This record gives sequence, C-alpha cells and structure tokens, in this order.
Amino acid sequence: MTQTALPVVRTVAALRAQVSAWKREGLRVAMVPTMGALHEGHLSLVRLGNQMADRTVASIFVNPAQFAPHEDFDAYPRGEDRDSALLAAAGCALLFAPTVGEMYPDGFATTVNVATGVSEPLEGVSRPHFFGGVATVVSKLLNQCRPDVAIFGEKDYQQLLVIRRMARDLDLGVEIVGGPTSREADDLAMSSRNAYLTPEEREAAAALPAAMAAAVGWLREGQAAEGVEGRVKAILGEAGFGKIDYVEVRDGETLERLGPGPVGSGARVFVAAWMGKTRLIDNWGV
Ligand code: AMP
Repeated sequence: MTQTALPVVRTVAALRAQVSAWKREGLRVAMVPTMGALHEGHLSLVRLGNQMADRTVASIFVNPAQFAPHEDFDAYPRGEDRDSALLAAAGCALLFAPTVGEMYPDGFATTVNVATGVSEPLEGVSRPHFFGGVATVVSKLLNQCRPDVAIFGEKDYQQLLVIRRMARDLDLGVEIVGGPTSREADDLAMSSRNAYLTPEEREAAAALPAAMAAAVGWLREGQAAEGVEGRVKAILGEAGFGKIDYVEVRDGETLERLGPGPVGSGARVFVAAWMGKTRLIDNWGV
C-alpha cells in the first residue's frame, strides 16, 4: 500500500487557511512542534494529538534562536522527506515547515522570555539563551496555527513547564499537554541527538537511565536528595560521562529544590551530562 504524501505548507498564511477551514467544519486541531529528525518519541506525540483532536499539525523548524553560537545548529540532523513519510504514517494531517525567513523576517525584534520561576534552574543555568529562544518560537508557532491543544514531550520536562507558564501568562488559549518519554530497549530516552553517539558511546550511555532508575529507588526508600545526586554523578563518571551539567532532585511542578530530608512522590530527578561531544538530558519522576 502506498502512503499518501503528507500535505506541507511553508507560510503562515497557508497554515492559517487550512486550520481555519478545519475550524469552520467544527474540527478540533492539535499541534506538535518539532525540530525534525523524527523518532518514535515525536510520533507518539502525533498519535496523542490524534486522540485529543480531529486533525494534528506537526511543525518542523530548526530554530536558530535556541542554539548558542558554539552549539550544534549547523550539524543538527535534517531530512524532511523521511520525516514527512513518518508523520504521514503516524496519522499527521499537515506539516508546517517554514523557512527561517518566514519565521524571522527582516526587522524581527521581539522576544518572549519566561523571566522567573520554572525557567531559572537546570537548563536555565546550563543554556542561558535556550528558553528565550524556545518561548519565542513556540509562542509564534501557537499563534500561527492557533490549535486547540499543543503536545510537548516530558523528555524535555522543564521546557514543557516553561511553555505551560508562557501559554498561561500570555493567555494563548491553547491547552498544553505533556506526552510520556519514549525510550530505547535499554531505557535511554529517544533523542535526535542520540545519532551523534558512536557505537561505544551509545552502549556506555545506557548507564544514564540505569542510574536514574536507581536514584528513584533510593529516593523512594527515603534517602536524602543530596546523597542520591552524588551517587548518580559517581555512576555517570565511572560509566564514561565527561562533564556533568547537573544532577538535581527538584519539585516536579515548581522545580524548587527539595530536601534536606526524604523527598515526597512529587519529586523528580533531572540530569544533563555529556557523553563525548553529545549532551544528553533525562528526567524521572519519583
Ligand atoms: P525536538 O524535535 O527534539 O525539539 O522535540 C520536539 C518535541 O518532541 C518536544 O516536545 C520534545 O519534548 C518531544 N520529544 C523529544 N524526544 C522525545 C521522547 N523521547 N519522547 C517523547 N517526546 C519527545
């Protein structure tokens, strides 16, 4: 059976025309923003979109504003034909794939910044440019598409919280929904950046989810956050991770620091660590 090609639009006007037509028919619309190089994690969000709405729009836009100059914007994997076939097979109704010029035309001068709270710790410390770029592009995408619901992965848990805060603060009128993290057989969180790992690094990276599972167990036993964070860092170091940006136990809603005593079931463990030249992040609920 040949798969029907996925319709693709590259302008805001064409996107709005299609979404407006659906809305006039009384259809509910979901949006799944991505940077492409799609994997099962992204596709699971498209399927979730289809459970929550009648039509799911995916976007692919590698957003220069969320990469620092030394980061991997140029090297970020791109392949629209493959992505488009995967999206069609997952039941996506429309692909929005704008150019950089469509998103940031000459004279573009506005940024959206979630200034305090959930944007501050963790990635906010390690990648200070990051959430400003994300909030700006996601607020644009949601305004361009005007979906009823937008789906984001818990893989990027802090990002999900930042976007939820931004959507509430700006009265975007879009429901922000989190989808569970899709994992490989050894529990490594799926990520487009996993493609950067050499076979040896990929094998060693399995220590990360193993350490997270152990940490959740220790925290449930009542061990203090600080000790658990130290044990996870030691495991990662021994497994061949180089720089560890953070291993932190925080509240799963506010991202506030927990402890010094035992933490409750609302806690979450967050990690960002480098395997060779690849930065991996993950988070597990306690
Ligand atoms: P990205 O293309 O990496 O910017 O991700 C696009 C969306 O897919 C974001 O909402 C991510 O959180 C989500 N995502 C990425 N990896 C996964 C995964 N392994 N499981 C679930 N969602 C994911």
